[in-house]
Amino acid sequence: MVIDTHCHLNSISFPPFKFLASFSDFDLTPSFITMSTHSKEWCKQVELSQKFNHVYCALGIHPWYAQKMQTIDLLKLEEHLKKNFIIALGEIGLDFNVRYKPYKVKQLECLIKQLELAERFSKPVSLHVIKAHNEMLSLLSNVNVSGIVHGLGSSKQIVKSYVDLGFKIGINGIITRINARRYHEMVSYLGLEHIVLETDYPYIDISYSKKPCLSDILLVAQQVAYLLNVSLERVLLKSTQNTQLIFNETFVR
Ligand SMILES: [Zn+2]
Repeated sequence: MVIDTHCHLNSISFPPFKFLASFSDFDLTPSFITMSTHSKEWCKQVELSQKFNHVYCALGIHPWYAQKMQTIDLLKLEEHLKKNFIIALGEIGLDFNVRYKPYKVKQLECLIKQLELAERFSKPVSLHVIKAHNEMLSLLSNVNVSGIVHGLGSSKQIVKSYVDLGFKIGINGIITRINARRYHEMVSYLGLEHIVLETDYPYIDISYSKKPCLSDILLVAQQVAYLLNVSLERVLLKSTQNTQLIFNETFVR
């Protein structure tokens, strides 16, 4: 089994579910956790997860959309959570890059409200964190929420702080880039114990493929195996167990 813990399937036209063919060579059953970025995507994400056995959906408001958040969005999110169709809140977080820093207050408000919902409904979160680790770590230390930090490429100290709070780190296609030395160091430091796999489809280019595709998850797994000097089977097994633990879900339907 291989689980893509962070992708954006709403960008694919359904049906058909063509991309699954790319996994058949490997005799693997893939599962996908599809993320949303704002409320207009939610209905489609829920629909996908109900239509396809191997698709699980996460609903949330991404920090880039925080300034547009309205109270009604949070009420809608709560309604979805009550129906229990969703596996996690995501993608949520903080982004204090120059472009989004002016909305810092709104981002914090949006995140805090969603963390409260995650805690209340015992759901994990998928986090996007850019230049805001101190703020994020201090918020997380005050709630009983676990999850995944996705797209992280940080120092050992920051990575360790998330791991100490029970978070797993999502490893994506950046690992396949030869010159991504700091990223490779981070993965070596984490080892299999603390990682899960993700594509962040369609946003991450793999160095040697033209267009991002969902089967890139296997290249990520292969590269983790190479870096950590373990078998591919071991990477798939351990990353699956880590994912099952975080999402409290077997991913077998
Ligand atoms: Zn994403």
